[in-house]
Amino acid sequence: MDSDGPQRRILHCDMDCFYAAVHMRDDPSLAGKPVVIGGSPQGRGVIAAASYEARKFGIRSAMPSAQAVRRCDHLVFIKPDFKRYRAESLRIFDIFESFTPMVQAVSIDEAYLDVSEHLEPWGSATAVAQAIRRAVKKERHLTVSVGVGPNRLIAKIASDHDKPDGLTVVPPKKVAAFLAPMSVRCLPSVGPATEKRLVAKGFELVRDLRRAPADELERLFGKHGRTLFNYCRGIDERPVRLVRERKSVSSETTYEEDMALVEEMRAELDRLAASVGRSLGKRDLSAFTVTIKVRYGDFTTITRSQTLATPTRDIEVIGGVARRLLSKSEAGQRPVRLLGVGVSNLLHGRLEQLSLWTD
Ligand SMILES: [Mg+2]
Repeated sequence: MDSDGPQRRILHCDMDCFYAAVHMRDDPSLAGKPVVIGGSPQGRGVIAAASYEARKFGIRSAMPSAQAVRRCDHLVFIKPDFKRYRAESLRIFDIFESFTPMVQAVSIDEAYLDVSEHLEPWGSATAVAQAIRRAVKKERHLTVSVGVGPNRLIAKIASDHDKPDGLTVVPPKKVAAFLAPMSVRCLPSVGPATEKRLVAKGFELVRDLRRAPADELERLFGKHGRTLFNYCRGIDERPVRLVRERKSVSSETTYEEDMALVEEMRAELDRLAASVGRSLGKRDLSAFTVTIKVRYGDFTTITRSQTLATPTRDIEVIGGVARRLLSKSEAGQRPVRLLGVGVSNLLHGRLEQLSLWTD
């Protein structure tokens, strides 16, 4: 590995089947049953998460619920409860942060931890990983799979290696042997399309890809080719970034002339909601709470908020809530000089499927 600079020790912690595990922990009658979280099979719902028991029937997330029922007729459907997942996630991240301040959240149930400078009192990264797994089990009654490696790439692949409830440690001198027999698909930058092109070139396994010269990969994949060249050798310099948790996103406008017409204000709220929705999308966040801010002509300012059952980044949903909240203000009876739309109670991760669950 990189010979200059001290060896890094990175953990990737990934909760096992998180949504389903939370429900199964809280309701013992679900033990051993094929449980899925998702929309109803009667509607056009999709599966958001499947327990390991359900996965044995070939059920996967993003599969239409109706198709899942055909594979397993005694499947137990549970409506997603994001408030509960988020509360649980905060407790779990508290545990992670009790081991190192260098925690990078990747999603609601997944994080990179840089423990290079935080090995005491445990003594080694492996011992830290074991202590984290014990703490999550003891305090939250849930299991987390952990991968330990010299960088994010290796830690991430390692956490997936022995799931669920696994611990995989890849010391620097084992990196090459660990990666060699794996499919190129295991590399984080390789999606189905890239995989197809690599396999067509004879690069099916990581060890095959290592034979590819850097300039050939760059010719095939551009800048991305250099990343592939490094990744298949286990080289990854990306730091664990301390992403400070964003608490809110908002957008507001002060108008040169006071606004009197509610219709005009509603249109403005839609515009502000669109801007908020876009910045949520850019940061891969969704929000539970929508707030509007209204400043009247005499400078008095009020806010109105609503918290949703399901987090959203949908521009129309945010705009709709904002318009409803406006009707709870005196806008229209009093002139308005400033309008704002904000969202808070934010959640990390890809939640595009959410709109499908509301049927
Ligand atoms: Mg997970």
